[in-house]
Amino acid sequence: MKITHIISHVLQYDMPEELGYSQQYYARRTAHLVEVRTDEGITGWGECFGPGNVARANKGIVETVIAPMIIGCDPLNRGPIWHKVYNLLRDHGQKGMPIQALSGVDIALWDIAGKVAGQPICKLIGGKFRDQVPVYGYGMMLKRESVDDHVARFKEEAAAIRDAGFVATKMKVGLGARDDIRLAQAVRAGVGDDYRFMVDANHCYTSDDALEVGLALDDLDAYWFEEPVAPEDRDGYKFLRSKLKTRIAGGEAEFTRWGWRDLLDANCVSLAQPEVCALGGISEYLKVVALCQARFVPVVNHVWGSAVAVATNLQLLAALEPMPGGLVPVEPMLEFDTTDNKFRDDLLKEPLSIQGQVKANNGFVKVPNGPGLGIDPDPDFIAHYEMG
Ligand code: CA
Repeated sequence: MKITHIISHVLQYDMPEELGYSQQYYARRTAHLVEVRTDEGITGWGECFGPGNVARANKGIVETVIAPMIIGCDPLNRGPIWHKVYNLLRDHGQKGMPIQALSGVDIALWDIAGKVAGQPICKLIGGKFRDQVPVYGYGMMLKRESVDDHVARFKEEAAAIRDAGFVATKMKVGLGARDDIRLAQAVRAGVGDDYRFMVDANHCYTSDDALEVGLALDDLDAYWFEEPVAPEDRDGYKFLRSKLKTRIAGGEAEFTRWGWRDLLDANCVSLAQPEVCALGGISEYLKVVALCQARFVPVVNHVWGSAVAVATNLQLLAALEPMPGGLVPVEPMLEFDTTDNKFRDDLLKEPLSIQGQVKANNGFVKVPNGPGLGIDPDPDFIAHYEMG
């Protein structure tokens, strides 16, 4: 079996409203899918993390840098292919966009492997610990509106996410420490005392501002505080972990086993959030998870993107070992963005219908059972939204 074509599809549409997080506002939704074709008619799908023009640039890396290295290779040789690409790109980017680009290709190779074996990917990576996973819904994005309007909206939106059936919710912050504390208070008021909520700062604070917010989160019994400081600020992470009761989560901006080794060695996070579509794909994710498990750091995958990314993460979460294990194990949650995303809801011939499953099934979704990722992207849909 040989790889014959590697095609990047960058999809884009204008969202019904602009949304923001602590770094910027955005009005367009992008998805970057990778299609790997073979001489035996089997096609695999993957996805690369990275919005907008980052996706366009990553398309160039996939098609003009990585594809010539591996066209003609046996797609089942995932390890040698990963090693070859990484080794040849090592001098040009051990983190960031080259690794994001490699991630989408690697995921597509795993999809092919599953289709060849006639098994879902979760069975190829050790098997299923669970048939369904609980889902948390994130929302409460920033908008160009007053702090008071944010406060009122966050309270309502948090309650709506809880009422939609999600097992927990996550909010954005980024208006400044004092105002962000008001937002967190509004979310706690919206969801009530017995519901889990998390806070995502997208690395907008200094460590002292993060401590001010974190102490308020301790009082509000928040479940985790995500990317409070810049990913490079390892001392800041360690400082916060030593001062706060609230769990410190992070890692979505870290890459490969080597980046994760350093992040974990520095004791930065109490919860690890590996992003499979960025850190190097499924092959590398499995190594990163092993590093986390060796240090008893629980893994809660970072999930962002289309139905391909969601299905990939469902396969991974199905096979994630409980840690440390017990009669009532802590189940890993699927991250789910509750804001408008056609590429997640309408990309597949048979949609995953996450929101419908969450509503009907107490916040849980089933792991796709078909071979590979267990999904079938619709080529007409892709052609319609593909950027020229
Ligand atoms: Ca995040």
